[in-house]
Amino acid sequence: MAIAEAKVDMEALNKAIDEVFYSQLDSTLLYYFQACVNCKACEAACPFTPTSLHYSPVNKAEVARQLYRYRFTVWGRTVGRVIGGSKKYLSLEEAETMVDYAWHCVNCGSCAFVCPMAIDSGAMIDLLKQVAFKAGMGPKVYRDIAELEASGKYLEIDFFKNSWNSLISKIKDAIGKEVPLDKKGSEVLFYASIYEALAYPDVLVKVAKILDMLNKDWTFMSKPLGIRPPIGLVIGDKDGAVKVMQRVYSYFTDISPKYVMLTAGGFEYPALRYTMHETLKVEPKYEVVHVTELLAKWYENKEFEIEPLDEIITWHDPCQLGKRGGVFEAPRILMKALSKKFKELPSHGVNSFCCSGGGGGCGLPSMVNNMAKALGIAISDDDKKFLDKTSEPLIKAGKIKVGEINKIKAKEVLTGCPVCIESINFQIDYYHANSKVNHIVDILADRIKVSKK
Ligand code: SF4
Ligand code: SF4
Repeated sequence: MAIAEAKVDMEALNKAIDEVFYSQLDSTLLYYFQACVNCKACEAACPFTPTSLHYSPVNKAEVARQLYRYRFTVWGRTVGRVIGGSKKYLSLEEAETMVDYAWHCVNCGSCAFVCPMAIDSGAMIDLLKQVAFKAGMGPKVYRDIAELEASGKYLEIDFFKNSWNSLISKIKDAIGKEVPLDKKGSEVLFYASIYEALAYPDVLVKVAKILDMLNKDWTFMSKPLGIRPPIGLVIGDKDGAVKVMQRVYSYFTDISPKYVMLTAGGFEYPALRYTMHETLKVEPKYEVVHVTELLAKWYENKEFEIEPLDEIITWHDPCQLGKRGGVFEAPRILMKALSKKFKELPSHGVNSFCCSGGGGGCGLPSMVNNMAKALGIAISDDDKKFLDKTSEPLIKAGKIKVGEINKIKAKEVLTGCPVCIESINFQIDYYHANSKVNHIVDILADRIKVSKK
């Protein structure tokens, strides 16, 4: 992949390498850097390996290891340097490879679960993404979108304002009354981002209907807290991410709900549940949960019944909700209630094969293209090449994912992440498979019956 900018400022690159590695090394990363036994068990788990063996987790992380060795080991500064096992800085060609590798990892965590040493290669590759961002490399279209979010200027954009206001009025029509907005002290803060308002507004409307039907004390946001906050985390912009997390945390604290409920099980889930509070060094007084966690809890409390379907359905574990977030049980409680013919995919739970969602972390090529067009952000030729290339892993990993869906003859694939929905639907279309993918709420909402107590 060509680096988005024609000219790479080598001085900025070297500075970024110095700063990112020195500022972040902790005992966990130290272990990841040192403990690899080169067994290559991680290769098969990565959704990018079917595209090329170059993208195996251990190979991608090797760039980070080379920089680490030179800086932190005697061997790296002596013999390692001579035999190419370590590098103080990168040549232009190596920097291009670094960017390519960094954007062929969606930090899904699959490699860590199969590694006999529990090494999280995604964490090392994330350092490369941070180097690339600091040095001004990587796709400009992503940086422009992240900058809009961090600066807060997204609120001035008509396209976003209109989508959000239209969502609020759809919710109002669905529940037949004013939408409770920014209500302090509510039990449930129903959280959504602009990305979701664009990806699946109908799912958000159905969630509101469920909350209303169950007579919950809930509130929604009068204004979105970001485009997909914090985008900075997935493009390597830590400073931008901190700014956005401060905004989000301050709103959550001001509303002070019991639960902040997300419908997205993408990177926002671990980011808003764990990373935000760890980074800001705060202890939240609220609990961040995925919608499936609250619905499963209320279902088990017999607040509603579920009228079952008579078809084979399956659950795709979003990596960030499952492997990175630890939510496996709640969706399965709902899935089993939804159909006696619920079947697990051949790979599921911690071993679920990632759909390669995002093809680069924060959105699919089609979504990014559409958003850039609506925002008037010009897509350069380099960015176009980059976006086109992100379709490759979708197609290659899709063959495995669609093969699994066909094997169990699932009619409906349900999941809980907007990117998984778009990416698996793309794969199903591409391979002409006879199935469809929906957010679990899409199906569930119409089958919930409030129990008579
Ligand atoms: S975190 Fe996921 S995408 Fe990244 S290297 Fe590991 S398996 Fe591959
Ligand atoms: S599975 Fe773990 S130990 Fe084996 S090559 Fe990959 S990172 Fe290294």
